[in-house]
Amino acid sequence: MTALVLVAALVGLAIIAVTVWSIGLIASGPPPEPDPEDIREVDVPYVCTVCGLSLTVSQAQGGEITAPRHCRENMAEA
Ligand SMILES: [Zn+2]
Repeated sequence: MTALVLVAALVGLAIIAVTVWSIGLIASGPPPEPDPEDIREVDVPYVCTVCGLSLTVSQAQGGEITAPRHCRENMAEA
């Protein structure tokens, strides 16, 4: 019986933790709009190593370009 109560309490705490995390995520809102002057033209082709989808990044913000993800994997520079 006490084990059942303990499990119920743990499940309850997990539900509360996920709810608080979700509310925090929603409350923080979307990331700020990029500064138009900080956007530069680039031409970086990427290919998905899983399904073969290819795309080209034409605009980027900041110095380093983070590889986009597809099929839950980072895409490779083609
Ligand atoms: Zn893919």
